[in-house]
Amino acid sequence: MINEAMYALGDEPSAIRELFAYGLKRKAEIGDDKVFDFSIGNPSVPAPAAVKEAILALMEEDPVTLHGYSPAAGDPQVKQVIADAISRKFGVTATPGQLYLTAGAAAGLAISIAALTHPGDEVLVISPYFPEYKTWIEAAGCTIVEVPAQVPSFQIDTEAVAAAITPKTSAVIVNSPNNPVGAVYTRENLEALATVLREAEERLGRPIYLISDEPYREITYGAEVPYVPAIYPRTLVCYSYSKALSLPGERIGYIYVSDAMPDARDVAVAVAGAGRALGYVCAPVLLQKAIARVVDVPSDVAAYAENRRLLTEGLAQLGYEFVQPDGAFYLWVRALEPDAQAFSERAKGFELLLVPSNSFGCEGWVRISYCVSADTIKGAMPAFKALKESYEQ
Ligand code: PLP
Repeated sequence: MINEAMYALGDEPSAIRELFAYGLKRKAEIGDDKVFDFSIGNPSVPAPAAVKEAILALMEEDPVTLHGYSPAAGDPQVKQVIADAISRKFGVTATPGQLYLTAGAAAGLAISIAALTHPGDEVLVISPYFPEYKTWIEAAGCTIVEVPAQVPSFQIDTEAVAAAITPKTSAVIVNSPNNPVGAVYTRENLEALATVLREAEERLGRPIYLISDEPYREITYGAEVPYVPAIYPRTLVCYSYSKALSLPGERIGYIYVSDAMPDARDVAVAVAGAGRALGYVCAPVLLQKAIARVVDVPSDVAAYAENRRLLTEGLAQLGYEFVQPDGAFYLWVRALEPDAQAFSERAKGFELLLVPSNSFGCEGWVRISYCVSADTIKGAMPAFKALKESYEQ
């Protein structure tokens, strides 16, 4: 007999994927330029030329070694290069033994949750949140506890976090720059969170880990993105090159268990164990080696910055309410009726594909992914105008 919980997951529709599939169908019917698909977070900027050069250069190497297995946690030389980059960038001493290379942040998060929890534990997330957190938390036999962010800043509500912590709380997941709202948590906000977690650890006599999900670390528009382990040492960073280097299909990233954590070695060993238990061993080796060669190549955010300008200026002029995004490539816009799903449905009638906030654990908003062409944004403005007017009649 199959596992019902897994069947339910496999069978469950994803609003984002459904909307994306609808967009493809609609484009085939009426033309690519007539459908304004803001559903999915697939980078629209090509990977930097240095990535292609690195891969081409690697193709000259001995194929048996190049395509062979690496150790489960990743190639030691690659881990050394990444550890050195972390040390250089954040002024810390990162060691390769604390790194576990993964197939993207998705694998990193599933591994981290499995490594840090026991069945029955609670894991806190800040809502709205990336929907797969729920999948990974529940797959580990734990309960997801949603803590709403402050509105309208969408910073962490640290008092609400304090109130939500119980003796079963083993970890808190934060994501900054944030998907879906585009907020970047300030240093003060993260320091206040660290204080709450330290006090709770002391009161409850147990460690509470912070999992910092950071695929958008480099996608920012001037805001500081503080280094979380420097603020709260009991942090695991789940990093990914999917967005930073536009490589989402290549599945490469890492978990860094902060060297500053009191139980750093034990946690790194548990991470290795969870990776093994889940079958996430030996992240794609060609990409591991390519990353070692491009570790200092900057992200290209110019196109996203321009899209952000076009979209925020255009929607502000039309009178939409939204959260000014400091990072990532998402705009969080207030739905024009309380039911976000109904609003998203109505938007479809104007060929606008907007993801309703229910997908992210809250009501009343939609997410616009602006990793699209600038022409899509410009072309969409009359549709946004007509959508707004349809509520004013
Ligand atoms: N976390 C967040 C907040 C994301 O938005 C995504 C992808 O969109 C992921 C994790 C997973 O990213 P990856 O491609 O690195 O697995």
